[in-house]
Amino acid sequence: MQIGAWLRGSRDAVSNPPRGAVACPDCGAVQALRAFDTHGFLHCYRCASPLERMRGRSLDAALACSLATFLLLWPANILPLLSVDILGARRSSVIASGVGTLWHQDWPLTAIAVAIEIVILPFFRYGGLVVVLGLLRAGVRGPALGRALRWIETIDQWAMPDVFLFGGFIGYSRVAPFVPTRIGGGAYCLIAAAFFSMVTRATFERRATWRLIGPSAERPEPGMVGCQHCDAALPARYDGARCPRCAGPVFYSRPATVARSLAFTVAGLVLYPIAYLYPMEANDRLDSLHPYSIMTGVMRLVDAHMVFFAAVVFVASIVIPFLKLFALAWFAISVHTRSNRRLRLKTRLYRMIVTIGRWSHIDVFTVAVFLPLMHLRGFLAVSVGWALPAFLAVVILTMVATDLFDPRAMWRAAEAADDG
Ligand SMILES: [Zn+2]
Ligand SMILES: [Zn+2]
Repeated sequence: MQIGAWLRGSRDAVSNPPRGAVACPDCGAVQALRAFDTHGFLHCYRCASPLERMRGRSLDAALACSLATFLLLWPANILPLLSVDILGARRSSVIASGVGTLWHQDWPLTAIAVAIEIVILPFFRYGGLVVVLGLLRAGVRGPALGRALRWIETIDQWAMPDVFLFGGFIGYSRVAPFVPTRIGGGAYCLIAAAFFSMVTRATFERRATWRLIGPSAERPEPGMVGCQHCDAALPARYDGARCPRCAGPVFYSRPATVARSLAFTVAGLVLYPIAYLYPMEANDRLDSLHPYSIMTGVMRLVDAHMVFFAAVVFVASIVIPFLKLFALAWFAISVHTRSNRRLRLKTRLYRMIVTIGRWSHIDVFTVAVFLPLMHLRGFLAVSVGWALPAFLAVVILTMVATDLFDPRAMWRAAEAADDG
């Protein structure tokens, strides 16, 4: 086998694949893929969402970075993250230590959710991406790859080595002023893994990858329906059926999208008071109890002159959840009133809350980092308060609510108002 020809062949397939039509996942417009603009971008003609980016994207780079992330996740999980010396006793923690402590403090659901997000899903996400991109690189095609990539993309926002790393920095800064703290090898591997996971995101061009897996329609035709998972433009008969490329369910408009999204938003809303008024954790030091709510945690960071971290926690824990709540309510009203105003702004806001919603986990991960360290029988103990599981539930419920909302509903409702 001529390796050179193989490399050239797969490089040509990557840099110059057949393009054809695409269905915008944000507004539903089916359109021919045009030339990239001078900045290497291709935007939807109707809602202006970025459809594709040429500059800085490469299948080889995404494959190399996801492989690096996957390999680094192993030592990051096995080696010690942080270790402390409290009155001569040494304690060290690994990434999963917080999970164990949450479990022992009788918060099993919280422990399971955190374990899935910081330990299990990162391995599936980056291991899966390595396999799919590696097979594509080797010239393998077929529907099984489409199904796999759809699942890998679905779990992407739930795999959080990067968010956990930020929580780790803040957790470290909360412990270090009180007790001598050493950064372990696991932390350095986690920093490297989080870095490569962000570069994977930056270099991975998902639509070009989807075109390698299978073709979309060659040109847009009236009545076409779009797959919201892989953006394939499909004939109208696929409405309500499975996508031939990724096997995901295809809908012209997703059934009961507003009602389902609102149900999860309201479920989150019910938990807001518990999440913000009760303590996240109580710090029991030599017989005096110091409860920390989300807001007192922010104030303590300001007092300790860590203004940057205070701002990060404030935005992640307070601004983003309320922004999501406001946005989802606005979208629901917009669909209900068939508003045709500010559709582009609402679409951009939707994309933004999908992207940043996961960062609200920072405060939960901060507690998960220092919880297993701050423990010395009779002198020091940290116990989890009601706000932590409530806040985690708020974040998860509003992320699900955002996922369940179909932004195309706003465009369809406006179209219906124009037609009627
Ligand atoms: Zn669009
Ligand atoms: Zn699809």
